[in-house]
Amino acid sequence: MPASARPAPRLAIVVPCYNEEEVFVYCHQELGGLLRAMIQDQQIRSDSFLLFVDDGSRDTTWDLIRTTCDKEPSVQGLKLSRNEGHQSALLAGLAAAAPQADAVVSIDADLQDDINAIRRMVEAYSTGYDVVYGVRESRQTDTWFKRTSAEGFYRLMAIMGVQQVFNHADFRLLSQRAVEGLLLYTERNAYIRGLVPLVGFPSTEIGYARGIRTAGESKYPLRKMLALAVEGITSMTITPLRLIATLGLCICLFSIAATFYVLVIKFSGNTVEGWPSIILSIFFMGGVQMLSLGIIGEYVGKIYLETKQRPRFHVESFLKLSTKQK
Ligand code: UDP
Ligand code: MG
Repeated sequence: MPASARPAPRLAIVVPCYNEEEVFVYCHQELGGLLRAMIQDQQIRSDSFLLFVDDGSRDTTWDLIRTTCDKEPSVQGLKLSRNEGHQSALLAGLAAAAPQADAVVSIDADLQDDINAIRRMVEAYSTGYDVVYGVRESRQTDTWFKRTSAEGFYRLMAIMGVQQVFNHADFRLLSQRAVEGLLLYTERNAYIRGLVPLVGFPSTEIGYARGIRTAGESKYPLRKMLALAVEGITSMTITPLRLIATLGLCICLFSIAATFYVLVIKFSGNTVEGWPSIILSIFFMGGVQMLSLGIIGEYVGKIYLETKQRPRFHVESFLKLSTKQK
């Protein structure tokens, strides 16, 4: 249980946006309305704000963010110099928001996640929780493929020993110290939903029903989903390496047994010129070796990237109150 009740926080809502011109106006309208209502109810401080992160969009998303920032003091905009992907855009937003906020909520621009859950997240924060996970209780609006692949992925991660909240994506509240903790994980291939549980602090979950995308199409095509899954597994666990070792051991044991079998056949004078079995075993062993090398390569590649310690993103412009007035 968390320690104590907290005063109403200065809340930041961080929204990564990639080519979201179709949903931006609606998103801003809905989140802005929620923010105002929560301020009125004194659930959050009056200087709470929205932070839109433009992840290198090629459409008019940044223009929309910029004009909104000019008009409204409670809206901030951050533009990354190129498309870095959802996870990096989110980290950039968290890093920019946390120094100014007591608590930060992250939510996708298409508002598939129920924005009313944000109130319950802040209530949980006020009772002392530092991390509040939004958990999808129902995914009926997702396609069969999306639902099955996503849930299968969560199960696979659990089997591999990665601690992760089932059916939780990147809709969550983090207290300022939880964001600071998260930002200490400087790896380039950050898989945020695997890292947040490692940060610790009192945490809880709240459920909500996931809706459909407001407009536009998913910015997570199969290619990006698979990339996120590979990132998630290879950046969080070395279980695949252990599986290779286990597979290698099993094949070795099998070959020893097979050798005995071949010797027995040979000495009983029953040898057959079996090129098919030779060809098959060459193929099989070649396959196993290639697969193993591929997976090892994935990790070696990761070490290579991590040792370079490249920055995860570059901020091109940051519009907030102090800079806006200049
Ligand atoms: N997004 C991003 N960079 C990307 C891809 C997506 O910032 O390269 C954002 C996108 O604008 C949205 C969120 O990540 O706010 C989730 O994307 P989407 O809703 O398309 O994913 P889905 O719900 O289909 O998994
Ligand atoms: Mg979505």
